[in-house]
Amino acid sequence: MYQITLIPGDGIGPEISAATKEVLAATGVDIRWEEKLAGEVAYSKFGRLLPEDTLLSIRKNKIALKGPLTTPVGTGFRSVNVALRKEFDLYINLRPARTYRGVKSRYDNVDLVVVRENTEDLYAGIEHMVGEDAAESIKIITRKGSERIVRFAFEYAVREGRKKVTAVHKANIMKCTDGLFLNTARRVAEEFPQIEFEDRIVDNMCMQLVQKPELYDVMVLPNLYGDIVSDLCAGLVGGLGMAPGANIGKDIAIFEPVHGSAPKHAGQNKANPSAMIFSAVMMLRHLGEMEASAKVENALAEVISEGCAVTYDLGGASSTSEMAMAVIDKMR
Ligand code: NAD
Repeated sequence: MYQITLIPGDGIGPEISAATKEVLAATGVDIRWEEKLAGEVAYSKFGRLLPEDTLLSIRKNKIALKGPLTTPVGTGFRSVNVALRKEFDLYINLRPARTYRGVKSRYDNVDLVVVRENTEDLYAGIEHMVGEDAAESIKIITRKGSERIVRFAFEYAVREGRKKVTAVHKANIMKCTDGLFLNTARRVAEEFPQIEFEDRIVDNMCMQLVQKPELYDVMVLPNLYGDIVSDLCAGLVGGLGMAPGANIGKDIAIFEPVHGSAPKHAGQNKANPSAMIFSAVMMLRHLGEMEASAKVENALAEVISEGCAVTYDLGGASSTSEMAMAVIDKMR
């Protein structure tokens, strides 16, 4: 039995979370959900975007599945997602991007994995004004931070039967910071002779991904490049609506769709639950439930490729719950 924290989230979050729960229940994996609040709903109930009770539950269970959260704009609140990453030192942002038949995209055979460093780089947020007309931001890259993310990328490649890891950087210009990242990557690569290793300068990488995505496999990047390149990869496979993600630390992992809370669709039972269900697929793999995860992934892929029971954004007319039911029927 697994006890897992579920944060349904804001906007369309509760609907796609309910659909995902139904699908997971049909796998037979024994999951006890501990539902906790965060985001706008938590703020309206407790006056806190990230209540202590929610943090305690994640710390205790070590695994959470999270819907999207609305970040209030212009109110001085920091993003709850960033706060969660910091609180639990979730240094890995893992975002697979692959094409599924039935989803409109430019390529048919994309199967990429972005491993983004989640805690350092310009995202450390150390910046200030220099007088009135200039601003300065400090880019932090450490040997420890680089080593642990690159090591994860290689261990992931070995575990998932992947062939190649590409380190992405701009070390030709940022010789200290990106140079440290690249040199660390080269050193860690020597410990994994069974996995091919190469590096690419980030601008060239973007062009190559748009022209020849089939040449790449697992990519490992510092925070900022990882942020940008992972959206590029999501675009290659049909957009954010299909993209799952995970934030992983030493002993805690939070799985979540990449998209936001889509407030204009909230409460209408029309949002696409795919990204949330694929995030749950990643969670099952993380738990070692390989059979159940493959079952859900294959069933969802089939429903998407048939195109009969899919939501409006995939060209169908089904509701969130109808699409989830179709996935459950396929699993049976
Ligand atoms: P969004 O991802 O919510 O929406 C972008 C577009 O995609 C909209 O047209 C939306 O209707 C559509 N869309 C998104 N998910 C969909 C789904 N599952 N099915 C069908 N259509 C879908 O991005 P946004 O509008 O920029 O942000 C809305 C709110 O979400 C903001 O408050 C933002 O801060 C927050 N947000 C949260 C997260 C997160 O919690 N991880 C991520 C991104 C944005």
